[in-house]
Amino acid sequence: MEKTIIECDNVSFHYEHSTVLEDISLEVKEGEFWALIGPNGSGKSTLINIILGLLKPDQGNIKLFGQNIDSFKQRERIGYVSQKSNSFNSGFPATVLEVVKSGLARKIGLFKSFTKHDEQKAMDALRVVKMDDFANKNIGELSGGQQQRVFIARALVGEPDLLIMDEPTVGIDQKNVASFYSMLNALNREHGIAILLVTHEVDLVTELATHVACLNRSIHFHGNRSDYKKMNDADISAWYGHPVRRVHQDEKEGQR
Ligand code: ADP
Repeated sequence: MEKTIIECDNVSFHYEHSTVLEDISLEVKEGEFWALIGPNGSGKSTLINIILGLLKPDQGNIKLFGQNIDSFKQRERIGYVSQKSNSFNSGFPATVLEVVKSGLARKIGLFKSFTKHDEQKAMDALRVVKMDDFANKNIGELSGGQQQRVFIARALVGEPDLLIMDEPTVGIDQKNVASFYSMLNALNREHGIAILLVTHEVDLVTELATHVACLNRSIHFHGNRSDYKKMNDADISAWYGHPVRRVHQDEKEGQR
């Protein structure tokens, strides 16, 4: 049976005067690809920050890989790519390879120098995201989508079992989004890495994730992709807070 790698149990959180998360329970198991979806301001980033241990919930428990978050020490098992990763300007003085190697700092210690083996691992991670040809380029010369792939390589270099991404397609132009997502699919299916992807898009997940959680302060739905697809647009709209109409697969095919 698959092991549970994230367990949120009745988690609630407030900032100053407003409750942002209410009674969140969610379980992510190894090998699963979860899309955490919700409108802007629905608490998605807050929940991710709680799972990453950056915020403490008011109540409820979090377990990571079966351990209580307070005693969890194997941080390298979780790779994280934030929304703002892909915004280096052209003058930023680091090569792609250096950026990826910096992902090992947590594992080997900040002031140790990198070995040939570390460099090899960084190149392997770049190959996974198909960016090995760019290893010696300056990070700032790359497009937003290419930078985002490099930051995924940086998150992968420590060989995590779980990759958490907050709106990773922000700043990627539309024509590159599909290939970005197919790379995520390969990471999940071929490399067995569990993924928790935060997005405000209600549509893309139907072709990607194995599981979906709909958040708007509380969890309105969580389950597998086929059950999410069975929900009607009116239910999705009621949760989302304004009318949502998902594009259905047959319509998409008609558009091709
Ligand atoms: P999402 O990621 O779904 O857009 P967030 O978790 O960023 O949502 O924010 C949820 C709510 O909490 C929003 O109303 C936001 O304005 C508020 N919020 C986020 N961060 C803070 C903060 N540091 N202090 C006060 N309120 C915050």
